[in-house]
Amino acid sequence: MSDFDRIDEVVAHGLCVMCGTCAGICPTNAIIFDEKDFPNIDLDTCTNCGLCIQVCPGYDVNFPELYSRLFDDTSGLQTLTGNFDDVFCAYATEESIRRNGAGGGVVTQLLAYLLEKKEVGSAVVVCADEAHPWESKPRVVRKRRELRKCSQSRYTIVPVNQVLNQVSKIEGKIALVGMPCHIQGVRKAMEVNKALKEKIYITIGLFCELNIEKEATEELIKLRKIPFGEIEKFQYRAGDWPGHVKVWLKDGTNRQIEFFDHISDTLNYLKCIYFVERCLSCIDLGSELADISVADAWIRDHRGEWYFKGSVGWNTVIVRTETGKEVIKNAINDGALGIKRLPQEYIFNAYNRLAGHKKSRAYSRMKFLKKKGLKFPDYHFDLSSIVGVRCLKWELYRVCAWVRKIPFVRYLVIRIAFSVLGITFIKFKTRLKKRKFRNSVKLEEM
Ligand SMILES: Cc1cc2nc3c(=O)[nH]c(=O)nc-3n(C[C@H](O)[C@H](O)[C@H](O)COP(=O)(O)OP(=O)(O)OC[C@H]3O[C@@H](n4cnc5c(N)ncnc54)[C@H](O)[C@@H]3O)c2cc1C
Repeated sequence: MSDFDRIDEVVAHGLCVMCGTCAGICPTNAIIFDEKDFPNIDLDTCTNCGLCIQVCPGYDVNFPELYSRLFDDTSGLQTLTGNFDDVFCAYATEESIRRNGAGGGVVTQLLAYLLEKKEVGSAVVVCADEAHPWESKPRVVRKRRELRKCSQSRYTIVPVNQVLNQVSKIEGKIALVGMPCHIQGVRKAMEVNKALKEKIYITIGLFCELNIEKEATEELIKLRKIPFGEIEKFQYRAGDWPGHVKVWLKDGTNRQIEFFDHISDTLNYLKCIYFVERCLSCIDLGSELADISVADAWIRDHRGEWYFKGSVGWNTVIVRTETGKEVIKNAINDGALGIKRLPQEYIFNAYNRLAGHKKSRAYSRMKFLKKKGLKFPDYHFDLSSIVGVRCLKWELYRVCAWVRKIPFVRYLVIRIAFSVLGITFIKFKTRLKKRKFRNSVKLEEM
């Protein structure tokens, strides 16, 4: 029995992940997402069927049960990586897809490949809103050429799964790309709706440490004094890998918002102020319930420098299920993906620290919410064996969650982050990071 009867109660308790699954599953289309990306119910249309609550990953994800549906051996649940069959680094062999991708373009290349081979008839993706290019929206794409407009990471919340209500009307199977919370919602929805289960051929999950509020993007644009009405195109990862936040204007000019490379730069630090609070209780860095998980290949060598150097990106690919295995095997054999194998520990060294932080942070936050008598998500398994006792990151975010409520702090942080002081601090932190993430083994250079 759930503690909740309706989706607005999940929102009221701060547990909504804004994934859109409730709206996507609603048989009467009674749920609409508002400007802040929260679901609203039209009570005149709602029939109280309870489906929205059944599929909601905000307050409950039964990881052990979903794991047992996907894998024969579920031991990965008690690890930082989750269950997997294979892991390697890869890139899209189509140069334009690779160049236009967030990392190595693997996600877009896989979708293009599946559409071309007619394994799927459409793909659920995220693209820029045409009227407001700095905003993002989900889209069901049927043509390969349309995919190009929907590549790249959009560092903001998008209720992707709301388009699930369109897919029953679409011919053929679908591939869905999403963050860990989207994949959790889809897996829950597939359990209650058998037609959807038949329809979804493959889920491709992205890595996610935490997502950022829409306001972060808007504040960056305001900071650079760019008139919203003049914006023609907006990208978070424009140009050579790892890319910069960049705006193209209607007068043909363009403006770069950040100064250094993406990972060491301000957008990452803005997370401290603009993080989505519900993400602090999420335990899933690597989309553990997806068929295939894809990350940027943020892998450092023995000196702490990027292992993959150069202007084009690479991805880390984790193959989890039988479907994932089949698709990847065919994509490699048909030349859609180029790959490089590195020792598994070498690759996971780059992510396990973050995965550990994420799980520890969520564990600490949930303990905190419990102590305060507040509701928290139920993942149906004991995390204590895989998390640290004390999570400093949680302590930091706890302070930030309080401090960021003061409008002046937001005003100040974004300005300091872009000042000489902020940039010096970021450079210093990047040097420390290089030391922390150094790989102990020296591998042959690329
Ligand atoms: C908010 C966010 C946080 C992330 N955090 C990390 C991280 O901590 N570590 C890491 O290694 N990687 C992270 N990633 C993933 C990374 O940025 C790349 O998306 C991933 O490596 C795939 O790269 P690609 O070149 O194959 O993608 P591309 O071929 O460029 O395709 C990207 C795909 O992502 C989809 N997409 C973009 N934005 C969103 C969104 N907001 N919600 C759902 N789908 C979206 C697009 O529709 C597209 O299909 C994050 C991505 C996002 C959106």
